[in-house]
Amino acid sequence: SAKSGGRGSFRFFEPELDQLMHARRNMERDMRDTLARGEFELHYQAIINAGSGEPSGFEALLRWHHPQRGLIMPAEFIPLAEETGLILPIGDWVMRAACSEAAKWPDDLKIAVNLSPAQFRSKELVSTIVGALANSGIAAQRLELEVTETITMHDSEAVFAALDQLHGLGVRIALDDFGTGYSSLSLLQKFPFDKIKIDRSFVNALSGTNEESRLIARAVVRFATSLGKTTTAEGVETGEQLAILRAEACDEMQGYYFNRPICAAEVLKMMHRHVKSLRRPSEVRAAAY
Ligand code: C2E
Ligand code: MG
Ligand code: MG
Ligand code: MG
Repeated sequence: SAKSGGRGSFRFFEPELDQLMHARRNMERDMRDTLARGEFELHYQAIINAGSGEPSGFEALLRWHHPQRGLIMPAEFIPLAEETGLILPIGDWVMRAACSEAAKWPDDLKIAVNLSPAQFRSKELVSTIVGALANSGIAAQRLELEVTETITMHDSEAVFAALDQLHGLGVRIALDDFGTGYSSLSLLQKFPFDKIKIDRSFVNALSGTNEESRLIARAVVRFATSLGKTTTAEGVETGEQLAILRAEACDEMQGYYFNRPICAAEVLKMMHRHVKSLRRPSEVRAAAY
């Protein structure tokens, strides 16, 4: 009972702890089932070239439609997938599915795939990616891997070796969520990053009246550009943010201002519409000859 002091108060929490462990076990089991049934889904968000206003590629974003709980976002299940090691088979599935989908697109469009730090602890990472490329038939240059600064924190030699090997094959490497981590500037020089993605939190703060956030964006773009890396702004939601980022010579934009992540079929529909509208003038040209 509660009167029996320390032990009583310990017992008070037991049912809650039990519930929590039970919920985690259920979620782990459900993730395994979803994976086995091939029922995870990828959504795709366009990455827009700031100069042309056209998509340069799409980022694959994992979605879980749970039969009872409905749509579950990655932030809610990727941490548990990482803890349980399930991120390895899930990550393999993501890589294969994303590359296969990109094979249906015009071949100047890139596909960006997020990688967890945990995936770098697997010796199979490079061969999985090489396998996914071979299987889909897409060129290595079309694949862009998005990694966060945390990958450089543990066993950075092994991570470096894997990234260097992939980079040597032509795969592009993007540093995701830049500005939220703790990495030193020298790390940015050491790792073969082609692109820096400016975190949404900085982009969010951008407005005509927030001079400081504009200066931060300017500094990041100049710094990246001087190291020969391109820049992408994440989470662009307003025309004002777009105008500022353009003025600061940011190369690419991504965010709800342009589009939300959409399913594979919608991406294909969008491309079809686009191709149709492009075809008209060339048909007219062809008829003139
Ligand atoms: P991320 O890689 O930084 O992806 C961008 C996130 O920002 C996505 O959230 C996207 O839907 C959201 N976003 C895009 N534009 C806007 C905007 O204008 N406003 C706002 N508020 N949000 C925007 P999502 O899909 O929930 O993914 C969250 C994170 O989960 C990703 O962040 C990534 O770190 C991780 N993730 C997603 N898919 C995968 C995956 O296949 N594997 C791994 N390892 N991680 C993944
Ligand atoms: Mg990303
Ligand atoms: Mg990001
Ligand atoms: Mg993020």
